[in-house]
Amino acid sequence: MAIEGISISKMVKRLNGEGIPSPKGSVWQPATISRILKNPLYYGEAVHFRQIRQKENGKYVTRIRPEEDWLVVQCPAIISREEFQEAQMKIAQNKRFSPRNTKGTYLLQNIVKCGICGKPMYVTFHGTSKYYYVCSSQRRRAQTGEEACSNRGVQVSVLDGEVWKLLKELALKPARIRKLLAEKKLRTGSAAILTRLQKQEDELNERKKKLVMQFTLGRIDDKELDGALQQIQTLLTEIKQQIQEHGNIANIHSTEARVANFVAAMQQEHNRRDACIQALSAVYVSRTDQNRGRYAKPEIDVTIVPR
Ligand SMILES: [Zn+2]
Repeated sequence: MAIEGISISKMVKRLNGEGIPSPKGSVWQPATISRILKNPLYYGEAVHFRQIRQKENGKYVTRIRPEEDWLVVQCPAIISREEFQEAQMKIAQNKRFSPRNTKGTYLLQNIVKCGICGKPMYVTFHGTSKYYYVCSSQRRRAQTGEEACSNRGVQVSVLDGEVWKLLKELALKPARIRKLLAEKKLRTGSAAILTRLQKQEDELNERKKKLVMQFTLGRIDDKELDGALQQIQTLLTEIKQQIQEHGNIANIHSTEARVANFVAAMQQEHNRRDACIQALSAVYVSRTDQNRGRYAKPEIDVTIVPR
């Protein structure tokens, strides 16, 4: 099937549709097929010692060993080496021309978020030769039947152009960047986390007072009091530590350093994608018009969140 140019997702559908069980006796997944297609075992070479599991920075990771360390053992072949290579070529071609191969091609990929529900917007290909940023709640609806948000897709070319223009304007106006940073802090930054932590701290202190009160009134004995107080104290210590950490993070990156970062990032006229990655932590987009049709020009609301 790979040599015929059939995509992996179509193979999954066909195999599952025909009721052919996967190697483990369940349904086929794209990863299983992909692994089989890449495995030299099928043209008669079993490779041992191809991978090594080793500890890096305290974590176990699997790495590919250098090829000269591999131990190749001949085994019965199911397909020829030529067939194997032809399949590899076809798979590589499919990947390159797949509409889903959108890696890094778009200015705002992985940066743009839905202005209505806040979920990431991803790039999708819309039959009619146009790419759109679409709220990922719509993909979830297709998968799970959950309700999707009302935001409409925006053509990639339109949004990329619009946002780039806005960013260039912003880079010339540091006062406006400062203002955006202040808004960001209020909405999502460490400020929100700090507020939550401080609230937890207050609640724990309140619980401490109540416990002492219950002890004074003779409702609990000193053993119960001690146990409960100790628990609270552990939590308090943790929270205090977190408050200190977040306070530090908030201070390290001062507003002025961030403004400078934004302006510097926007100097990279020749590499707009890098400029956006460095300058932006997000762009929130909502489409406000109801225009339909392929050439309809969308009206969009854009909120820029600098890094
Ligand atoms: Zn949404």
